[in-house]
Amino acid sequence: MTPGASSAIRATELDVPAAARPALPSPATPMPGRWQSATVEEVREETEHAKTFRLALSEPSPHLAGQHYIVRLTAPDGYSVSRSYSVASAPEASHIELTVERLEDGEVSSYLHDVVEPGDEIEVRGPIGGWFVWRCDSPAVLVGGGSGVVPLMAMLRLARRSGRPGLARLVVSVRHPADLYYARELPGPETTVVYTREAPPAGPRPPGRLGAEDLRPALLSGATAYVCGSSGFADHATGLLIQLGVPGDHIRVERFGPTG
Ligand SMILES: Cc1cc2nc3c(=O)[nH]c(=O)nc-3n(C[C@H](O)[C@H](O)[C@H](O)COP(=O)(O)OP(=O)(O)OC[C@H]3O[C@@H](n4cnc5c(N)ncnc54)[C@H](O)[C@@H]3O)c2cc1C
Repeated sequence: MTPGASSAIRATELDVPAAARPALPSPATPMPGRWQSATVEEVREETEHAKTFRLALSEPSPHLAGQHYIVRLTAPDGYSVSRSYSVASAPEASHIELTVERLEDGEVSSYLHDVVEPGDEIEVRGPIGGWFVWRCDSPAVLVGGGSGVVPLMAMLRLARRSGRPGLARLVVSVRHPADLYYARELPGPETTVVYTREAPPAGPRPPGRLGAEDLRPALLSGATAYVCGSSGFADHATGLLIQLGVPGDHIRVERFGPTG
């Protein structure tokens, strides 16, 4: 842990003996499969604007934490449109969970929110990505803005499920308390939530932009940092990490933006 690290964040779970930990996923990078049909088993509301879709894959393929799938929608006249969505769930063979933020004029996100319901079938292809992935075998600092927390949640869930929660630290930035995804599951000694516009009344910090002092306690020696969010958030968070001494080649960035 770096000097100045908060005592509220503990790494004691690193001491869990290897034999007591569940098996970790294969270190090989899963290759994206073909387009396949997935059945929507459950739709959960995360916030007013975000829903999680639990999908049963017809061709099971375990993903790595940080990977994404492509969702393709096809109209009866053959018009089709596809978008990428990170997997929020920890690796498992037969199911994936995608958390989608509804954009007001968003072609795919508004369809998923307004039309798709349990029992429906949608087309997906994945898992995709070999760079923004974490195998729970080295320290990781996870920094997310808004919906950028989704792939980082897969990493946090993997760390917790593997009995190694101290191996990952998560800092997530949201505007208001009501904007926090996974609000019941995410809080813990290894996570910090930064509120930029409105903080909970008993919160430890007034609302304000993510700063170096928010990230400093989460830094772990030798860790790889995973930053995910809008382009502006990703640039800002990367700048803070570099300012705190994290080498550029230890920072991996994924941007969710209009070009996604
Ligand atoms: C690797 C990757 C992983 C992603 N994972 C997720 C995820 O887990 N959850 C999630 O909600 N999204 C995620 N995205 C973004 C997602 O792919 C879509 O871009 C998003 O859902 C918007 O698609 P749409 O069809 O609804 O909107 P569009 O019809 O494409 O766009 C509607 C309007 O919104 C703007 N816009 C487009 N995308 C965004 C955006 N991301 N933020 C703000 N404005 C935007 C456009 O410029 C346009 O004005 C990911 C993107 C990438 C590249």
